[in-house]
Amino acid sequence: MITNLDKVRNIGISAHIDSGKTTLTERILFYTNRIHAIHDVKGKDGVGAKMDSMELERERGITIQSAATHCGWGDHHINIIDTPGHVDFTIEVERSLRVLDGAILVLCSVAGVQSQSITVDRQMRRYNVPRVAFVNKCDRSGANPFRVCQQLRDKLNHNSVLVQIPIGLEEKHVGVVDLVKMKAYYFEGDNGEIIREEEIPAELVDQAKEYREIMLDAVSLYSDALTEAILMEEVTEELIHDAIRKGTIALKLTPVLCGSAYKNKAVQKLLDAVLAWLPAPHEVVNEALDTSVPGEPKVVVPCTTNGTFLGLAFKLEDGRYGQLTYLRVYSGTLKRQDFITNARNGKKVKVGRLVRMHANEMEDIEDCCAGDIVALFGVDCFSGDTFHDGTTDLVMTSIHVPDAVISLTITPKDAKAQINMAKALQRFSKEDPTFRLASDPETGETIISGMGELHLDVYVERMKREYQAVVVTSPPRVAYRETITKKAEYDYTHKKQTGGSGQFGRVAGWLEPLEEGKGTFEFSDEVVGGVIPREFIPAVEKGFRSMLPKGRLIEAPVVGVKAVLNFGSYHQVDSSDIAFQEAARGAWRAVYAKANPVILEPIMKVSVEGPEEFQGSIVGTLMQRRGVIISSSQQEGYTMVDAEVPLSEMFGYSTTIRSATQGKAEFTMEFAKYMQVPGNVATELIKKFQEKKAAE
Ligand code: GDP
Repeated sequence: MITNLDKVRNIGISAHIDSGKTTLTERILFYTNRIHAIHDVKGKDGVGAKMDSMELERERGITIQSAATHCGWGDHHINIIDTPGHVDFTIEVERSLRVLDGAILVLCSVAGVQSQSITVDRQMRRYNVPRVAFVNKCDRSGANPFRVCQQLRDKLNHNSVLVQIPIGLEEKHVGVVDLVKMKAYYFEGDNGEIIREEEIPAELVDQAKEYREIMLDAVSLYSDALTEAILMEEVTEELIHDAIRKGTIALKLTPVLCGSAYKNKAVQKLLDAVLAWLPAPHEVVNEALDTSVPGEPKVVVPCTTNGTFLGLAFKLEDGRYGQLTYLRVYSGTLKRQDFITNARNGKKVKVGRLVRMHANEMEDIEDCCAGDIVALFGVDCFSGDTFHDGTTDLVMTSIHVPDAVISLTITPKDAKAQINMAKALQRFSKEDPTFRLASDPETGETIISGMGELHLDVYVERMKREYQAVVVTSPPRVAYRETITKKAEYDYTHKKQTGGSGQFGRVAGWLEPLEEGKGTFEFSDEVVGGVIPREFIPAVEKGFRSMLPKGRLIEAPVVGVKAVLNFGSYHQVDSSDIAFQEAARGAWRAVYAKANPVILEPIMKVSVEGPEEFQGSIVGTLMQRRGVIISSSQQEGYTMVDAEVPLSEMFGYSTTIRSATQGKAEFTMEFAKYMQVPGNVATELIKKFQEKKAAE
């Protein structure tokens, strides 16, 4: 068991597509002895050896797909967690980011910071992930790591500082000068595995001194000891490392390294940097939710091996041997054969097999502890489930899954797509509890629903990309609701005389709005004196409940209603379950309009971030959409605006915001609450609904 947390790093590699993330990951696995040969893929730009074997396919496949790959560097353990390629904000992305403690931000030394790097970086910032930057492809013509370091400042607002300078660029790139050690490093041998340390070459001495000055100046901000040492001219490597580490972990500094993954230059130094400057698991703050307290407040979970066992299933994978569940352990220890409890349903499960995933193999382990990332076999759960030892009320993610706010129907394009679609849907709904499936009771079409337009778009796209299932989608539909706002009394008799036995049931009472937070529907039986026999009461409730799926304004589901039954009558022969159900339905139809029904719509919390000069345009786009601005703030040239906006107004917002801000702003959106739609909008919705009904 790995118990020395100082020696653990859980990192992600985050990169703009094509900047060399795959190549870099492969090199890392090679130098850490996890794969035994470097193969190259014939690149999109024609660089690289021919893709030769299935072996490579396999190795790559595993390297890239594994949710977490374990490797060792020095006496440290590194878990490399796959950061999702798609940049969106589904729960799945959120989960893979929250299990990282730090990240390598890969940039291309020629292309530099591009728009996608901005998005990728923003995501890391949102989850407070400390980063070191690696400027890759220093061997390419036009390479300029100095410029990229400056771009990190200008475009991403990083306090970036070069901690290395390249030895030669383009085809002359052979190594790096380490500005902490003030030594030159060359990487030789077929795979760059032979590292030669030398004095800095004469022609680079001045430049190295200059950049070391800049570096010391920047990093001394994070360490008084270093500042003092600089004055006394007693700077040590240790003091510098300590300062860089502090600045990086506090997200105030980004050390910038450089090299070439493809030409095997300086990847080992990058690994050294990961150990030196990125945080160990107990150096970052992790929060859980306390379900024993109303409102589920956040509590800090100290990463200690002697605490209560607490872990998060952050990713599921269909492996050769069944479902593989990736688990990040936040507290305590976990042993094979232990029984653990799934916080979502209270079910106890036995941990049969515990493994660590390597690049192309799997290692069975006996136990693991806080800070580690492992995988379990044969445990049935959903992604996002919390496991614990049965003695705590803490969960790592809320177990309350919000209601879906938007839906659309999807139709497979052909028979093949149909089969694949089914597979994909099954997978996605397991991965993401906010992604739901249903079939339209009238048309039999498949309906998917989720938390936003983009949320569903991502899955439609993934169906196509990962499952070759092309589907046709309907325009998205907002999940409106109906509710009542006033108490209204009913007294309804259902009477029918047909041929043989008749039907009779009389019900009386009232409908009233249910207190907020009390759920969808409540039935209260207040009948006295047996005016309605006990046996028929459930039928009355059933009758009312059957009216809930379709309200009488626009046939939206009805929520927040309490139905009280306090009087009625029956007939010795003609009363029956059916008769009382019908009576309740009749009563509902008669009383609904009197209870002042209204339409509710989902309101989203929208956060927009962009350069300060677009503040006005950003606010404008939100106001035009019936948005209410909640807050707005400025930081380092960026403006952040939070607003509450009806979901129905958010369609096509990505295009609007892009054109209003030259593509420089981005937004996230999450469900906030349901609210009554304004009168004019309600009138419009009802009118549209009636027109549609008439047309049918
Ligand atoms: P990813 O899309 O970020 O995973 O990038 P890949 O690792 O697939 O690399 C994209 C292309 O860039 C491939 O053709 C690689 O061979 C090439 N590449 C990666 N690293 C380097 C590098 O350091 N130098 C050069 N010249 N090409 C590189």
